[in-house]
Amino acid sequence: MWITVDGATVDVSDGVTILHALGRIGVDVPSLCDDQRLAPYGECRMCLVRVDGQAQPIPSCATEVRAGMVIETAPPDIESARAGVLRMLARHYPPGAVLGDPDETFHRLLRRYDVVATGDDLPGLRDDSHPCIAVDMNRCIDCFRCVRICDEVQGQFAWQITGRGMGTHVVPSGADTLVESPCVSCGACVDSCPTGALEDRSIVQLGRPTRWTRTTCPYCGVGCELQVGIRDDRIVTSVPALDAPVNRGHLCVKGRYAHGFVHASDRETSPMVRDGAGWRSVTWDAAIHTVARRFGDLGDRFGPEALGVLASARATNEDNYVLQKFARVVLRTNNVDGCARVCHAPSAAALGEIFGTGAATNSFDDIEAAGTILVCGANPTENHPIVGARIKQAARNGAALIVIDPRRIELADFATMHLRPRPGTNVLVLNAMSATVVEEGLVDETFARERVEGLDEFIRHLARYTPELVADRCGVDSADLRAAARLYATNRPSMALHGLGVTEQTQGTDGVTCIANLALLTGNIGQAGSGVNPLRGQNNVQGSAHMGCEPHHLTGYAPITDAARFEAVWGAPIPRPDGLDAMQMLDAARSGTVRGLWVVGWDILQTQPNLTDTDAALARLDTLVVQDLFLNETARAHATIFLPACSSFEKDGTFMNGERRIQRVRRALEPVGDSKPDWEITCLVARAMGQTDTFEFAGPNDIWEEIRRVWPAGAGISYERLDRSGGLQWPCPNEEHPGTRVLHTSGFGALGPKATLRSVDYRPTTEGTDDEYPYVLITGRTLDQFNAGTMTRRSLTQTLHPTDVLEISPTDAATLGIDNGDRIRLNSRYGTADLPACVTGRVSPGEIFTTFSDPTNEVNRLTGPHRDPITNTPEYKITAVNLQPLD
Ligand code: SF4
Repeated sequence: MWITVDGATVDVSDGVTILHALGRIGVDVPSLCDDQRLAPYGECRMCLVRVDGQAQPIPSCATEVRAGMVIETAPPDIESARAGVLRMLARHYPPGAVLGDPDETFHRLLRRYDVVATGDDLPGLRDDSHPCIAVDMNRCIDCFRCVRICDEVQGQFAWQITGRGMGTHVVPSGADTLVESPCVSCGACVDSCPTGALEDRSIVQLGRPTRWTRTTCPYCGVGCELQVGIRDDRIVTSVPALDAPVNRGHLCVKGRYAHGFVHASDRETSPMVRDGAGWRSVTWDAAIHTVARRFGDLGDRFGPEALGVLASARATNEDNYVLQKFARVVLRTNNVDGCARVCHAPSAAALGEIFGTGAATNSFDDIEAAGTILVCGANPTENHPIVGARIKQAARNGAALIVIDPRRIELADFATMHLRPRPGTNVLVLNAMSATVVEEGLVDETFARERVEGLDEFIRHLARYTPELVADRCGVDSADLRAAARLYATNRPSMALHGLGVTEQTQGTDGVTCIANLALLTGNIGQAGSGVNPLRGQNNVQGSAHMGCEPHHLTGYAPITDAARFEAVWGAPIPRPDGLDAMQMLDAARSGTVRGLWVVGWDILQTQPNLTDTDAALARLDTLVVQDLFLNETARAHATIFLPACSSFEKDGTFMNGERRIQRVRRALEPVGDSKPDWEITCLVARAMGQTDTFEFAGPNDIWEEIRRVWPAGAGISYERLDRSGGLQWPCPNEEHPGTRVLHTSGFGALGPKATLRSVDYRPTTEGTDDEYPYVLITGRTLDQFNAGTMTRRSLTQTLHPTDVLEISPTDAATLGIDNGDRIRLNSRYGTADLPACVTGRVSPGEIFTTFSDPTNEVNRLTGPHRDPITNTPEYKITAVNLQPLD
């Protein structure tokens, strides 16, 4: 639309404020309290402009631009008023801050209006409590952007305003220091602060970045885009990309502050071989030829089935694609798997079986479109924090929220209903909800008629699962089960999000199937704001599996029977029998039939269940190659050869997030030391083992182009398109296709127009409690650490959660005479671990919770051998233990 600005006619976007419309065409109207992520505030009076027809100047941050407006941005009276505002603020502002940090927004404005700061600098207004955020409230100008962004974006309320008039102050909520407040260290307040009153401690210490690179977060499956700030070849900060579709200018503590691992002092950057004397650094050439020789020799002596490869959910799609191709073409085995096996393989299996596609049906943008959000066995505010923040805001804006989780997770505080089933009873709860839908006439009849098969049989099956029949067994009141079902079925569209609390059970695949059944019954599939959506744990776990790092799938989840199509592109034969998955490979290693294993970016010793068994399996291997940034626990204990990989900040490629979005990973730094990208290492070994042409790639783009040739649903996604957008969601079959936000809008792909309801019976786990082991241990993750902690333990965020703690209810703590911090010995049927206690109402009596991010605790000594029979995904969520206070 056309408007006139300072006498010139210009074309601006509509639907935005005058301030933002002018900003987009490069007209710089000053502002102190505005932030595009926040609701208009209009308090600082710096952005006043004169508009023809208005008697008084108007705040441009709070007025929508309209066609034909005639605007004056800097008439003398307004400029004079701006200088007056700045003079007033500068009277209390420390001059040293302006000199020391000239690029801050407020400091630039002081220079522009020739205003000098003359205030005091009082040490009492500094707060050094937080490891990542430096606080200097001498520099606070009461714009309240920190308070507002913590409320409006993060939904956390870590800051509050106290006092009135000249005595108004911003202080941490309910605490003397920031670190004691409810702060979740997302850094949003720092990003928004215009003065540096809140600043990244790393920038205070190392200086401002001199260059920036846009890339994708290396942590969880949300896939936030970030700008990495570099100075002197070091990452000094990482801030959110404001226009990123997933995170919309927001990050969590991990994306924002957990980048120190890249420059950690114990980063291994030289290849190493272990001999009798211990680790010995060798050249890349020697390391590659050692791997090639040992794997070649094992293959010759014991056959290809004696070899296996475990891929990394943190490596790029290109890295993973090359690795699975290496297993099939060079090692001649389908023994290749990734850590989806220990997390969301049940989601892929169940959704693939019912809907024909083993991935999230919808997108994160559907959170805001949902009438009801069902969060089952997931803790998004800690494990997928940007999704968690979006769910919190959706609930505050009126969406109904149902949480199904044995623990009182943070989202329970925002929920309409929180159902707390006994661990391991998801199938009972979800079947009871489906039974209620049927009994109370809430089935979407039109949808069922047009899109669903097997309804009659399913209804007969549900008769055994009415809420009244299952309430005692699952521990949820029947009235609550009915109320939750009614809400989900009627307050539509309803969107289900689930996590490892569903999948990491012996009924993992069944649990996801039950969610899918519920969605089909109620017509909550194939439209915005609905669907069944696994929250993927690691950043590229969806991509790793999708690229073919699974024993029974090639790229794009193609079955091995589809091998001919791949052979035509690869120019090499693919072995036909399905291979072993990760759990089976370790079983086979323990029995001596798998002799050589290559593990990329996955600390299996620390993260696999039943550590004693994993230890025994790895100890029997003839050759264990570990490729990682660090000598992780697996490498330390058992590796024969260590290959130093570089981090995602040091290479190009793509990740696939949990909503099927392919996003660019861009090199911000040269590889540290002698480290190399994973794909390059694999290609070197492949060539050393005699495969040349098919492993000659010029770079990641070259690999991606090959991926497009074998994966029809991704054929339309090119680097060039990705560089022009915030990523593309598959299916995207051609270059004109915009990508797909919602799956199954009119059918179920190869399955046809209808999906079939699956009757799933409840099978209790055999890992039961008894007099000897009376407590149920649930393991999971926490906000400040990531999975095994390999990266977060080496970052500034480590001090926010230095070790695993054992959450125990006040009732159980009183019975056992336990206080916060007391050390407790946990004994399971499989092992022992010691942890400090954290007494909290988050867990119910009889249930305890911990994480496994600190290797010194060896929490996976406790977890057992039980697995989901369909996918072999281990049961991390239920281990019977007893507790022994040590102090
Ligand atoms: Fe990274 Fe996930 Fe946090 Fe986003 S929510 S910043 S992707 S860890």
